[in-house]
Amino acid sequence: MKDDSIYASLSKRGVSRRDFMKFCATITATLALPEAFTPKIAEALEKKQKPYVVWLNFQDCTGDTEAILRASNPSVADLLLDIISLEYHETIMAPSGKAADKSLQDIIKTHKGKYIAIVEGSIPTKDDGIYCVIGGHTALSIAKEVCSNALVCFTAGSCAAWGGLGSANPNPTGASGLQDVVPGANIVNFPGCPMNPVNLVAAVVHFLTFGSLPALDSRNRPLFAYGKRVHDNCERRAHFDAGQFVRQWGDEGHRKGWCLYEMGCKGPEAFLNCPTVKFNDKTSWPVQAGHGCVACAADHNWDKVYPFYGRLQKVPGFGIETTADKIGLGLAAAAAAGVAGHAVASTLKKDKECSNKEESNK
Ligand code: SF4
Repeated sequence: MKDDSIYASLSKRGVSRRDFMKFCATITATLALPEAFTPKIAEALEKKQKPYVVWLNFQDCTGDTEAILRASNPSVADLLLDIISLEYHETIMAPSGKAADKSLQDIIKTHKGKYIAIVEGSIPTKDDGIYCVIGGHTALSIAKEVCSNALVCFTAGSCAAWGGLGSANPNPTGASGLQDVVPGANIVNFPGCPMNPVNLVAAVVHFLTFGSLPALDSRNRPLFAYGKRVHDNCERRAHFDAGQFVRQWGDEGHRKGWCLYEMGCKGPEAFLNCPTVKFNDKTSWPVQAGHGCVACAADHNWDKVYPFYGRLQKVPGFGIETTADKIGLGLAAAAAAGVAGHAVASTLKKDKECSNKEESNK
């Protein structure tokens, strides 16, 4: 083990070998790799040095920073300080003012082309970007300078990926996602509100272990996290198939954990691994907590998949096997149609079974 390796650093902070291997196993599972890769990941972290990271906050609520501060396996302090070398993060760094500016400029000069830039928040582009200014510089100019000199850029959350809430109609600040502002940069998108920190960490570890980024879809989202539909891994799916739906908040079906489709759940058209990785140390996720999925990772979901509690529309033409690439929000209605059809069919089947049962009981 190298003294300056990530594992050495974790050990110094009291992370046991057992917890370290547990972390490696979690990352292996998140990356959808076979268990046999766990030792390879552990070996890489025992040898590799921490990558330099710059974390930029623009037009956002800091929800993604909050999410990563709640991460574990090991705890986020370990994650931030030991797996990566966090050189700049306005929310949690000690320097401020000119000293903070200097930190940022130093890393751009000293580690040009070698650091990872993580961007949280949308970037206002209207009126030369004047609606978000940090230290006298617009977010627009900071994003261009920092991200065009980075080795790779990760967008943390839907705002940085697509513009998020700030870009909702009428989008007064011209809020945009990073790939529209710095189109030539090497970008990996982690949309979500917030993004799941486990996915971002898994991508960093993949990069350290294999020397390459994980496989991406056409919109630069890692397939290991965005390749499967929420609906297909949801723990309430059996109730959907059985036609057992919550019809009112707090009704018997809600108390029993039935499917939230009738309450506006967008899980059938959302692509993310929330049901398997969950949040806050795998404690829970929105559907487990009793609220439908709002497709928070979808491109411009605030305009396209709302209202929150509106049931997906009935339009024909849903193929059960699809991907985030194919479905898009333009096809959301089609997805809804198939779901609606299925839901109706399931309900009819259930009603028929009930009436047959009643008949046989007579
Ligand atoms: Fe789960 Fe929503 Fe699908 Fe129901 S509609 S199974 S709650 S994802």
